[in-house]
Amino acid sequence: MEFFLQNKQQREDKKRKVSCPHIINVTFIQLRHVRLLLFSSFITFAFGFVNHLKYNEIYYVFEKEHIVKEKRVEINLGRLCNLECEFCMSSSTHKGRDNRLECLDNAMKELRELYSPGAHVNFLGGEPTAHREITQLIDAAQKLGYKHISLCTNGILSADMNRARELVDAGLTRVTLSVHSHSPLVEDKLTHRKGAFHLKEQAIRNYVALHQEYSTINPPALNTVVHKKNYKHLREFLRYFYKLGVREFRLNALRPEGRGGSQGARAYFVRYTTAAPHMLAAVLESWAEGVRVSCGGFPPCIWPPQVHMRDDVLSRLWADHTEVSRVVSEYSPILGTERFSWDEMRSQRLKTKMPDCPKCRYNAKCEGVWVSYASIHGLKEFVPVVL
Ligand code: SF4
Repeated sequence: MEFFLQNKQQREDKKRKVSCPHIINVTFIQLRHVRLLLFSSFITFAFGFVNHLKYNEIYYVFEKEHIVKEKRVEINLGRLCNLECEFCMSSSTHKGRDNRLECLDNAMKELRELYSPGAHVNFLGGEPTAHREITQLIDAAQKLGYKHISLCTNGILSADMNRARELVDAGLTRVTLSVHSHSPLVEDKLTHRKGAFHLKEQAIRNYVALHQEYSTINPPALNTVVHKKNYKHLREFLRYFYKLGVREFRLNALRPEGRGGSQGARAYFVRYTTAAPHMLAAVLESWAEGVRVSCGGFPPCIWPPQVHMRDDVLSRLWADHTEVSRVVSEYSPILGTERFSWDEMRSQRLKTKMPDCPKCRYNAKCEGVWVSYASIHGLKEFVPVVL
């Protein structure tokens, strides 16, 4: 199937089958906002189209037997990184391209102690591949019996096929690359490295080729922060990388923490409710073509009423609301190795809610909004859903 509907006649035929909820269009007309009117029409069309699909075939994040209820061990190897992304919340305190890992023994110990049958392990940082020892860690995880071994990486060092192959040979089964634009200019500028886009693109090509060569590694996935320079172009972004062979995307809320909380990062801020219609349009269009896309870190009240009338659609959009149990082991040169539950940390310390949240239908499940976002933008844009 083509990635998106190309045939104009096909589009027209499908449009005719979809009825338009008047309440939505009246609201937008009252706002006298032509762009939103266009979005409303598109979203209505997309909802109609998505209705015809079998969701279980197009989306698996919520397939309970595979991911939900499984234990995920996250080993954070520290903040060392070879890029300086403008809105990075980890904000590396020191740079390097191929450094020794101070915490190798600790990381090995954590891998052993946190293992349980069926558990997954994910390595993150900083940039985990900036440590040569990452190969040893992946190899150890495989020997211990971890069911899936994954890596969150910026992909810069995996542009070297030998390096990418070494990781797959060691036992890597899944890779998630951080890419935030399909424009080389934007990606290079925000990462502070000329040529970063092309290196990341090459890394994606390498992992696609390795997926075709080995049965053990999944096609690459992308982790993308939604920001001011990309939110209006998410449809093109998804199309571009889908054509390269990416089969899963996560659109993440910007958290203004670390370097992301600096004045320089303000140029990338966009309000969640401003980005929401663009995200939804991109996601619905992608789902219609079988692409897996979810959103992380956004509260459900940012979505328009159509979403709240469809629990199945919301559950696919709302990637935070899973029952994955994540144990994080984080290393810092000062504090050493610290263990915590990511779910508890997020809901009890990193997110906040409004006095009106108890009126909302999602109050019991929703964790609210990142504290760091609320401290800059406030919470006025979030309105309880009382449908
Ligand atoms: S509980 Fe609060 S933050 Fe969450 S969706 Fe409802 S209004 Fe939004």
